[in-house]
Amino acid sequence: MADTPPNPTYKRVLLKISGEALMGNTGFGLHPPTVERIAREVKSVHDMGVEVCMVIGGGNIFRGLQGSAQGMERTTADYMGMLATVMNALAMQSALEGLGIFTRVISAIPMDQVCEPYIRRRAVRHLEKKRVVIFAAGTGNPYFTTDTAATLRASEMACEAIFMGKQVDGVYDKDPKKHDDAVRYDSITYDDVFSKNLKVMDASAIALARDNDMPIVVFSLDEPGGFRGILAGQGTYTRVHS
Ligand code: UDP
Repeated sequence: MADTPPNPTYKRVLLKISGEALMGNTGFGLHPPTVERIAREVKSVHDMGVEVCMVIGGGNIFRGLQGSAQGMERTTADYMGMLATVMNALAMQSALEGLGIFTRVISAIPMDQVCEPYIRRRAVRHLEKKRVVIFAAGTGNPYFTTDTAATLRASEMACEAIFMGKQVDGVYDKDPKKHDDAVRYDSITYDDVFSKNLKVMDASAIALARDNDMPIVVFSLDEPGGFRGILAGQGTYTRVHS
């Protein structure tokens, strides 16, 4: 029987993944088969007719805090972290284009020879033309993270939700890798995330999502077909909302 796509419940979404999601079990940098696996997840959602944009972190290559802990000036270290996200975005673009998906990398820090600069209307137009848009270089500002960039871009693109692709299938009351009795929440509020100190996104990103009423769906990207299933309202996940 033909593999007919399930009906998506969303029209436009932002997928946020950490840089570490791209390194597989290698401990550093990029693991091309893992990048390709995630690209296939994105393709399967794109094939449903959902407009997809992405924000990818840079932690597999460099984090500003790690640089500043080693004596580097913080803003310089943060710019290095932002540049790391551009490398990841280009790797994802290459993998998606290998699967026949048109993509655009759009950077918050202009670097015209490498990718497009961020112009909101142009990014929206790319999405309308069913291109996958990968937002790179975070917000373009030091002292932020790509979680905040994801919330900002999702709001600017009028996405219906941010999908946080993680290694676990939602938000738990304690670390499920360390505690067998950890309980997953189906649904929690932004305020719960603060009051219970749950690890969903960093505090600035959660505050921005709350202020803009942007739902966050935390799901496992390790589950094959998981992204597509979640978009169709199936599978397990945690929804963070107002
Ligand atoms: N970064 C930044 N401003 C931003 C986004 C990112 O300065 O708007 C820097 C920051 O140093 C951060 C690094 O880029 O540590 C990589 O991003 P992040 O830590 O969010 O990556 P992830 O943990 O998602 O892989």
